[in-house]
Amino acid sequence: MGARLTGVGLLGFVEYILRMPVKKTEAFVLRTFNWSESSRTISFFTRDGGKLALNDRGGRSMKTKRGRALNLTHLEITYYDSDKPTAGHLSETQVLSNWTFSKDGSLGRLAFSSAACELLYQLLPDNEVHQDIFSYTLRYFEIMDSAERGALPSVFLAYLFRLCSMLGYRPVLTGCVVCGRSVKSLDADRASFAPERGGLICATCQAPGERYIGVVTEDLICAVTLQAGSLAEAATEQIGFSQSSRLIELLLAFLKTQADLRTINSLEFLEKLKQANL
Ligand SMILES: [Zn+2]
Repeated sequence: MGARLTGVGLLGFVEYILRMPVKKTEAFVLRTFNWSESSRTISFFTRDGGKLALNDRGGRSMKTKRGRALNLTHLEITYYDSDKPTAGHLSETQVLSNWTFSKDGSLGRLAFSSAACELLYQLLPDNEVHQDIFSYTLRYFEIMDSAERGALPSVFLAYLFRLCSMLGYRPVLTGCVVCGRSVKSLDADRASFAPERGGLICATCQAPGERYIGVVTEDLICAVTLQAGSLAEAATEQIGFSQSSRLIELLLAFLKTQADLRTINSLEFLEKLKQANL
């Protein structure tokens, strides 16, 4: 049950809020935590403040006068900022643009876009400005909304690769991560990827007891192309579901060891859909 605001409590709250500086920025929602029937805390990714948790008192109520903070929508938010983490308050929201992710009725658009929000929520440090990642993600949503259905996995992979490097995690895919031998001199049709080491590893440098993931040459070529390419280029690539699943799995294994990434529910959901042939 949420605490009800009494007359005195409400005045105190308003006074407290009015002493905070008011800020305005572009944003989209990463995650919402409901903490009472009417109120919630929203974790936003903002252009000027990075990942930012704001309280949205009364925001769950249908009677709220201000706009609603919808998921997967480019918003402009006005908020009362606080020095203390999670003590800021959302004041107003305005929709700048939104995407429907409904072209061809593919659930993949929605799942891959939600996956980006889950990744950002887990990987972005609190209150650290990342304008490049913010702009890049808006572009990603635009392309996810409009690309051909067959290109959705490659667009997601290109986004994931770039997001990793923008955050300082760059898997080494061109040679052995330990000795630097080029990929051409590695085993003929299958290389080994060491998530803990952060890249490919040659037979000489492998250590007993370490975990490796086998990568076929075809996947490696595809990964290197996507790692170097733009989202628009990825939108012209069509890669099969099994190849994209293998590459997504490889990158998630890398991020799980390098960045403590946990499960990405939207991708698990997508995998279940595929298995059920929907
Ligand atoms: Zn080596």
